Amino acid sequence: MRSLILIMFFFAMSCSPKKEITNEVNLYSQRHYTVDEIQYKNFEELTGIKVNVVKANADELIERLKNEGKNSPADLFITVDAGKLFHAREQGLLQKVSSEILNINVASDLRDPDGYWTPITYRARILVYSKDRVSKEDLSTYEDLSNPKWKNKILVRSSSNAYNQALMSSLVANLGYDKAKEWSSGLVANFARDPKGSDRDQVRAIAAGQGDIAIVNSYYIGILLSSEKESDLNAGKSVGVFFPNQGEGRGSHINVSAIGLTNNSPNKENAIRLMEYLTSPEAQEVYVNNSYEYPVNKLVQPSEIVKKWGEFKVDKLNLNSLGEYRSDAIKIFDSTGWQ
Ligand code: FE
Repeated sequence: MRSLILIMFFFAMSCSPKKEITNEVNLYSQRHYTVDEIQYKNFEELTGIKVNVVKANADELIERLKNEGKNSPADLFITVDAGKLFHAREQGLLQKVSSEILNINVASDLRDPDGYWTPITYRARILVYSKDRVSKEDLSTYEDLSNPKWKNKILVRSSSNAYNQALMSSLVANLGYDKAKEWSSGLVANFARDPKGSDRDQVRAIAAGQGDIAIVNSYYIGILLSSEKESDLNAGKSVGVFFPNQGEGRGSHINVSAIGLTNNSPNKENAIRLMEYLTSPEAQEVYVNNSYEYPVNKLVQPSEIVKKWGEFKVDKLNLNSLGEYRSDAIKIFDSTGWQ
């Protein structure tokens, strides 16, 4: 009798195409770090759930989710920018997640107040400076970088980059459009060269004497300082790390790498399980020691390299503002000549 029920059960399963149980989870990811492959392999070994990844930039992935609609195989959308998750949510592409485990794993001050995305790491957009040519005492805020005293000293990548767009969005949110625009004009006037290259290239340019101060994401310094390539290691060593807007200030600008559950997720349980795994102490250790990002789980410490820079005050801006003010940020870049 029992085996008959079992047979009927499996027959019912195989006849019902909609209820097909898959042992996989499908990610659309903007992240470009090798640590992710380690994480997904560990998760597969632990759970038997296969992780399939499609990588592209965030806007392309949002377009793809929109075009695929209800037929999208994607369960999770991962970005390195809360602003892009805000846009995905605005277009109805995400759903809220409620999970006790996520509530335990993720520090409450880093969560989406609206519940549509879950951070897996965070990073600060900091200043690095030539230890030979700049004294730390002369640095203070992002705003101060537009001071004419830094003429021909500032290095930063192009404004088409999401990290700069998020930083500018935070300035619009904190200072207002006009002040942010004024800042941008002053900063552009201080550029050491036309924006080009990656964040790491700005550090390499300081080492080569092409400029003195660069705006970069914190983890890239960790990557350079742990590099096996001597020139990169030396570039990392040639700069000091500075967290702007400390003391009485509002804190340094941060952004999260975060995950949203798609509205049509076909493997929702597996997807939530992966979110829970990536925020667990075990996986957070893997992030901090491989990508040098900051952990969202308070049980985990940053890597030894990152810890040496000390703790810093974080700008508590609601990170959804980084999406809300994105079009203003782009307008400012265009009107002030930040290429
Ligand atoms: Fe990056």
